[in-house]
Amino acid sequence: MQDRLINRRDLAFVLYELLETESLCARVRFADHSRETFDAALDTAHRIAAEHFAPHNRKADLNEPTFDGKQVHIIPEVKRALEVFCKAGLLAAGKAYAQGGMQLPATVAQACLAIFNAANVSTAAYPFLTIANANLIEAFGTADQKTKYLPHLLAGRFFGTMCLSEPQAGSSLSDIRTRAEPQPDGSYRVFGSKMWISGGDHELSENIIHLVLAKIPGGPPGVKGISLFLVPKYLVNDDGTLGLRNDVALAGLNHKMGYRGTTNCVLNFGENGGALGWLVGEPHQGLSCMFHMMNEARVGVGLGAVMLGYTGYLHALAYARERLQGRPLAGKDTTRPQVRIVEHADVRRMLLAQKAYVEGGLALCLYAARLVDDQHTGETEQVRRDAHLLLEILTPIVKSWPSQWCLEANSLAIQVHGGYGYTREYPVEQLYRDNRLNPIHEGTHGIQGLDLLGRKAGMQDGAALQLLMREMHATLREARKCDSPELRGFADDLAGAVDRIMETTRNLLCAAANGEIELALANASVYLEMAGHMVVAWIWLRQALVAVARLPGAQGAERDFYQGKLAACAYFFRWELPRTRHQNELLNNLDRTCFEMQDAWF
Ligand SMILES: Cc1cc2nc3c(=O)[nH]c(=O)nc-3n(C[C@H](O)[C@H](O)[C@H](O)COP(=O)(O)OP(=O)(O)OC[C@H]3O[C@@H](n4cnc5c(N)ncnc54)[C@H](O)[C@@H]3O)c2cc1C
Repeated sequence: MQDRLINRRDLAFVLYELLETESLCARVRFADHSRETFDAALDTAHRIAAEHFAPHNRKADLNEPTFDGKQVHIIPEVKRALEVFCKAGLLAAGKAYAQGGMQLPATVAQACLAIFNAANVSTAAYPFLTIANANLIEAFGTADQKTKYLPHLLAGRFFGTMCLSEPQAGSSLSDIRTRAEPQPDGSYRVFGSKMWISGGDHELSENIIHLVLAKIPGGPPGVKGISLFLVPKYLVNDDGTLGLRNDVALAGLNHKMGYRGTTNCVLNFGENGGALGWLVGEPHQGLSCMFHMMNEARVGVGLGAVMLGYTGYLHALAYARERLQGRPLAGKDTTRPQVRIVEHADVRRMLLAQKAYVEGGLALCLYAARLVDDQHTGETEQVRRDAHLLLEILTPIVKSWPSQWCLEANSLAIQVHGGYGYTREYPVEQLYRDNRLNPIHEGTHGIQGLDLLGRKAGMQDGAALQLLMREMHATLREARKCDSPELRGFADDLAGAVDRIMETTRNLLCAAANGEIELALANASVYLEMAGHMVVAWIWLRQALVAVARLPGAQGAERDFYQGKLAACAYFFRWELPRTRHQNELLNNLDRTCFEMQDAWF
């Protein structure tokens, strides 16, 4: 299928040549599957995304949802597209057959869903939030809650939200004020105001199931006192029919830079006596329930950022192959026709950077999705434990690296279009605006840096980081044995970067342990960026090793494809990985520039 959503050849390369996804079919859970069934699911997702999501992407951007004081209005194409999505069973793509699902591996399910982000990220947000919501109920809900809500969520009759943030508590969830008062019958009455709630109100589904973080009065202070509650917009009877409207009110819609088709809501709970809610999981364990599901959710955020960058890159590439401008620098002759801008080296630089970011990001995120599969269905306890540990350390990177660099790809896609890229006549400006959310939500860039350096790098005496390094060293050994002198050189470069980050990590954790915690963590976002570039360099080296092995037997377009992989790998190692040297220097010297800057000096 030729369009500008994704390069299916690249997707097939990542799934089948790099990650060997077919090998998952040897596991009991995926025994009915084969490459054919995986491709059929991808084809269906691709077709629905292209035919039902992409066509109204611009219209939804230009026609934000409105609220007339009673009800939210959204352009009708959104509901129609979602009906097709739900009918195709995509909400339950990764779920068991018994739940009406397709029982696809996470690697394939995520790849299917990714295509929708490229087509129309704001319409895709509604089912994606619903999947995250259903996963939480499945993991922590009571048997009753699962029976009452899960089938309707997985069928798309109900949609879901995640209600964490409040006006005064975004990054710092310990400061939430929403409270849940226990009732004699075991239910709770929820009171408070939630801010920024995506999909918080609409008429796209019969009901909306809110998962709300709130504090039970008298509980421990801070994050240890946060619990999780299920609060439906309409109460649900035991037979699944809808009852009374719950005490949840839309106070207003936020008007956003991007993701404009997704309603983003201020929700008031309990203005009329208290919204009825039910505890999910144990009291005071709300945040750990949320975090339990975060690894998977954040793979989705990273992949969303990748796909916005990916489709922008494909648009820029198509434009650069058509747009005529200028002549070759050598022997300029104005009587000769103008050349296509792809013939200018500087335009190729911008395209190559985009290719390196988005294809690197896609491989990184699908590798993380593969770890999700290994965590749940790996052959041995050791495989499952290792996959979990790797996901722990990689999650902040998988969320943040694409949010930063695939956004940069969107910026470069605008640049390739010149002035036209800055207009609404071309899609690249919207893609940039849409992608700008990703470094902000689901934990900002700064918070992910603190998570990586302050929590994950030192967890279990550094076990996760050491395991990641062992994985990298296995690739380095393979690269050093390969026939390509270039890849052997890249292996040395990466080995140097790995040694440096290990030394720097030790120094920073040591400084933190010696009481200099504020200083040690002051540049945590630089640490996140350095670690991200190192991991993506590793992912590129792995891709290049596959390409170099296949190149001799490849002809024509296949040969070009593998050459493209090697060129993008070379770009990453020569232009991008060297950034980490400077970052390392700043970190290793415990640079105080930002730390010591005073408020009054600005
Ligand atoms: C379009 C959109 C959709 C959203 N959807 C949802 C949703 O569905 N559900 C939901 O619950 N929330 C949602 N959010 C909220 C989102 O998760 C928060 O905006 C985010 O967590 C940041 O919180 P904040 O906006 O209050 O910013 P703040 O927390 O005030 O942060 C402002 C800045 O300060 C930095 N900062 C804050 N604390 C620290 C610290 N301790 N150390 C270093 N730097 C720090 C941050 O990194 C950031 O740069 C959404 C937000 C947007 C914009």
